[in-house]
Amino acid sequence: MHFTKNITKTYSTDILIIGSGSAGSVAAIAASMGKHKVTLVERYGFPGGTSTQMLDTFYGFFTPSEEPKKIVGGVPDLIVNTLAKSGDVFLRPNSYGAGTGVNYNPERLKLVWDSAFIQAGVQTFYHTSLVAVEKSDSESNCVFFNKGIGFFVIKSKRIIDASGDGDYAHWAGIAYEKAGEFEPAQSMTTTFRMSNVDLNKYKEAGGKQMMKSKMANAYQTGSYPLPRKEGSAHEMCQQNCISTVAVKVTDVDPLDVEGITLAEIEGRRQAFIFEEFFREEIPGYENSKIIGLSSQIGVRETRRVYGEYRLTKEDCMEARRFKDEVFLCGAPIEDHRKSLDGKEETFWQYVPNGGTYGVPYRTLIPKNTLNTWVIGRCFSATHDAHASCRSMAQTMSMGQAAGFAAVQSLDYDQDANNIDIIKLRKKLKDQGAVLETPLKNADTRRNGWANNFK
Ligand SMILES: Cc1cc2nc3c(=O)[nH]c(=O)nc-3n(C[C@H](O)[C@H](O)[C@H](O)COP(=O)(O)OP(=O)(O)OC[C@H]3O[C@@H](n4cnc5c(N)ncnc54)[C@H](O)[C@@H]3O)c2cc1C
Repeated sequence: MHFTKNITKTYSTDILIIGSGSAGSVAAIAASMGKHKVTLVERYGFPGGTSTQMLDTFYGFFTPSEEPKKIVGGVPDLIVNTLAKSGDVFLRPNSYGAGTGVNYNPERLKLVWDSAFIQAGVQTFYHTSLVAVEKSDSESNCVFFNKGIGFFVIKSKRIIDASGDGDYAHWAGIAYEKAGEFEPAQSMTTTFRMSNVDLNKYKEAGGKQMMKSKMANAYQTGSYPLPRKEGSAHEMCQQNCISTVAVKVTDVDPLDVEGITLAEIEGRRQAFIFEEFFREEIPGYENSKIIGLSSQIGVRETRRVYGEYRLTKEDCMEARRFKDEVFLCGAPIEDHRKSLDGKEETFWQYVPNGGTYGVPYRTLIPKNTLNTWVIGRCFSATHDAHASCRSMAQTMSMGQAAGFAAVQSLDYDQDANNIDIIKLRKKLKDQGAVLETPLKNADTRRNGWANNFK
């Protein structure tokens, strides 16, 4: 390894998780329920990835439709239950009818993830980035960079790549499709929060509908150089604060250093165009200002690994079920990309009749690997299927399945692609995961948080 002469330290672990987004964080908690050493590495100074960097709503716990079903449970429930204890959760309808969202306070969520790792005994390294990999079938040497100690190695028997960008896969030579390679990549979004919004005035003036039509009008007439004619602006746990997902940055590669730099600059520029538009045009926003931008631009897709199975659009839209399914999804395809006329649109396609599909365990195992799982937004799916199965209740469910699978593979000395799936599904069910479609509203009443609806 060409870094070897600069290595300052070497650690060993049993299960190494790269990235503490929603997928990796849940994987670390689930993996810690076994008897093996678990290490979690994150490039930023806080946990949560997209869940705390820029968002405040978990989608995917509930199916869309008039009669929502709760289709995710287990460790993801524990996280929401903990948030609910401090009053940091409420439910809200999705702006586009894509199902009930679980809205939370993202700053509190950082604390919840931290506490869960400490309680579970996860060895956590923040401010640490994966930069190279030397792998064999039984063990991987991962080289990390931390500004304080320079390059160091973590040796691990099992690897869970939860980096969102599939960084482990990339450095380990695992095959993947890069977003934009065959179909247009989804756009990127800097989210922002505005304080001191007079919500009574806003609602009296027509609320969301009024905002929607004014935004569309400004976009169409060009009175403000808005990048999109629509977007989500919703209440937060903090009083009189609104979170907005409306910025749109396209045509740059977030995996290229020049591309991601341009995207960050453009995302911030657009956010302040929205600020001006809201203050001048939307009743209730007159005395409001941006109080926070997402700590990085939101990237919807980059690398999608080729796994033992690839989830397809047909699997989602035909509500297919699989013998090795390890979680469920009922979310629509929500594809933010350009239409043929070059304009940015969001394309929606719903699973018919409020249905759900199953997601096979095989989508979490990269082809030709024995000790690796790839979870979260880099899991094995086509562009369309990924656009449906990327909500955080699903990425957390991937973490839960991979965490338990990694433990099982060590306990029974089985390869990732050869574990006893009946045993894994039983473990998931015992821990509260939903693997059969429940009756409408079935599970929701058990949770206090499910009654707090705004
Ligand atoms: C703008 C936007 C809006 C969205 N809106 C919603 C919504 O409202 N509700 C919803 O449920 N879903 C939403 N999604 C989708 C959802 O948020 C993501 O699909 C999901 O959060 C991905 O989780 P993840 O854990 O796979 O990845 P991430 O959250 O990206 O986590 C990956 C983690 O790995 C770390 N990492 C990356 N590379 C390295 C490295 N080399 N070394 C160490 N650490 C590394 C990152 O810092 C990060 O913490 C949205 C996505 C975007 C971009």
